[in-house]
Amino acid sequence: MILGGDGYCGWATALHLSNRGYEVAIVDNMCRRTFDDQLGFNSLTPIKGIHERVRVWEEVSGKRIQLYVGDICDYEFLSAAFQAFEPTACVHFGEQRSAPYSMMDRSRAVFTQTNNVMGTINVCYAIKEFAPECHLIKLGTMGEYGTPNIDIEEGYITIEHNGRTDTLPYPKQGNSFYHLSKCHDSANMLMCTKTWKMRTTDLNQGVVYGVATPETMMDDRLVNRLDYDAVFGTALNRFAIQAAVGHPMTVYGKGGQTRGFLNITDTCKCIQIACDNPAPPGEMKIYNQFTEQFSVNELAALITEAGQKLGLDPQVINVPNPRTEMEEHYYNAKHSKLQDLGLEPNLMKESILESLLTTVVKYKDNVDQRLILPGVNWTESASVGKTIAK
Ligand code: NAD
Repeated sequence: MILGGDGYCGWATALHLSNRGYEVAIVDNMCRRTFDDQLGFNSLTPIKGIHERVRVWEEVSGKRIQLYVGDICDYEFLSAAFQAFEPTACVHFGEQRSAPYSMMDRSRAVFTQTNNVMGTINVCYAIKEFAPECHLIKLGTMGEYGTPNIDIEEGYITIEHNGRTDTLPYPKQGNSFYHLSKCHDSANMLMCTKTWKMRTTDLNQGVVYGVATPETMMDDRLVNRLDYDAVFGTALNRFAIQAAVGHPMTVYGKGGQTRGFLNITDTCKCIQIACDNPAPPGEMKIYNQFTEQFSVNELAALITEAGQKLGLDPQVINVPNPRTEMEEHYYNAKHSKLQDLGLEPNLMKESILESLLTTVVKYKDNVDQRLILPGVNWTESASVGKTIAK
């Protein structure tokens, strides 16, 4: 059962698993599409509605994906979906996932934490009540750890203090209401795991880039979403689109901010690995789900090189950083556990960047350049609701 299966990671993963013979259901309330409608954004790629998507998938692959349209915060709806589908694994992508969105104003901060934290509590209860053996695979983010001045471990750290030793959850310091919603989720899940002997895996995912997967390429109507606006667009995808339309790449501040990245095809593989390796009852496994780390300046340089090969002329501008974050810092995060379980990463080689740029160039006429510059400033988050992003 893929919660958030109409979204960027969820759609690619649903098709990946379905294509490999897993019986898949998508659960989604389409709120991501509503955010676009409310803010005047749009995916660069012309995505089809979810009903057409699953119909086309059946037509193309002969495989059926079940669809449950509803809100996981609505426990009655979620219970009915659990009872009907009887999942053995529940992959939880179904959250509001933009840090800028969560920092726009008070009501969106509250929405983000209510939607995410309450949704995850509901999922834990649904598993406890209707599918106690079901393995919960929950998407967290590397942003939960922040940027500590020491190595980041995979979930747990062994600490010696006043002569005693313990292995404890690695300290969390999210720097937006969104990132903090993930920290709260992790704490809630750990408690449920121990108390109800649930099987859980928390995947602290890095920034995902790319758009094509073997399955989404099987038909134009299966194309995945690709966000380039300053609220939902993530670093590398945004730079690729800016390069393609001749807009300078917007490096926030000094550009030394370093994060973990992974290709969308590796997101799918990691989820499959997590599904195939369920946690034992009562234990929450935590993996850092990324394959390489780059600074924002390094990303811009990589796109410049790949773009020049395609005849583009990518430029860079440093814009004032709308976020409150360190722009030069130590960053060394461990990420070996998924590779130990068999992940063969699809690294950010030039060929990958070139194929991303080629897809982006194909749809570049859809870009609204007004949506590119940052419009949400962390320090100016308003108590009064905003109706537009700027
Ligand atoms: P997305 O916004 O494209 O997809 C999320 C989906 O969940 C949307 O289709 C949305 O409609 C659905 N959803 C949200 N709240 C819901 C609710 N209450 N009930 C039912 N459906 C709901 O996001 P994404 O980029 O695919 O990210 C998926 C997950 O992975 C998120 O939890 C995100 O935090 C995490 N993640 C993403 C990235 C990234 O780079 N995209 C990086 C790290 C972690």
